[in-house]
Amino acid sequence: MMVANWKMNKTRDEALAFIYAINESLPSCDDVNTVICAPSILLRDLVKRQGDNLKIGAQNMYFEEFGAFTGEISPVMLQTTGVEYVIVGHSERRNLFGETDDMINRKVLSALKHNLKPILCVGESLDQRELGITSSVIRKQLEANLKDVSKDDILNVVIAYEPIWAIGTGKTASASDAETECKNIREAIKELYNAAIADEIKILYGGSMKPSNAKELVSMPNIDGGLVGGASLQPDSFLELVKACL
Ligand code: PEP
Repeated sequence: MMVANWKMNKTRDEALAFIYAINESLPSCDDVNTVICAPSILLRDLVKRQGDNLKIGAQNMYFEEFGAFTGEISPVMLQTTGVEYVIVGHSERRNLFGETDDMINRKVLSALKHNLKPILCVGESLDQRELGITSSVIRKQLEANLKDVSKDDILNVVIAYEPIWAIGTGKTASASDAETECKNIREAIKELYNAAIADEIKILYGGSMKPSNAKELVSMPNIDGGLVGGASLQPDSFLELVKACL
């Protein structure tokens, strides 16, 4: 699975030009599940280009369905655009916009209730890494963010391991470090759910993934793909990332 996180980038014309540039060359979703998570205002236009080789996702949503939440977008609204995925708990949302584990849990539950697949981001800060508490930080995030997510629903959640110190910094976790944490996440899912679910759930790596390191990362046994910001903004680079999964 290869997921683009465009963040707050691209006008409508730029987004459509991007889709036209890659569409012909994208493999079928049976081979690589390619997803573009775009700014909300572009979703309607992009969903029209959704097909058997490309899915569209949102980057955020609020957990309530309607109401006095100025500036927010609800799961009902997302559902009516036809998007399949929504990123939840990205570290930029946690750190810049004060999202707590409890809010993220409510978003995960609300997304699932509305047939949206949450791409749940977890990961440690540089301080936490240096203190040697990466695995316990991630375990706590998983327990809090997946609270009350049932066995029936959990396989609709994609988990992205995103070390905060690697996001947008050009610093990538080594393939073996990324593998270690993704393996720990799979182990946690086994304990929280069961072995069959742990085998099947998709776990992505995100943090300065680019064409030059993608193949090594996605070749790791517990890394099922990538969540990519900067290197997903140019069609050629994104295509290379998708093809690295083949
Ligand atoms: C991200 O924003 O999820 C991300 C991984 O960004 P970048 O690839 O730019 O580090």
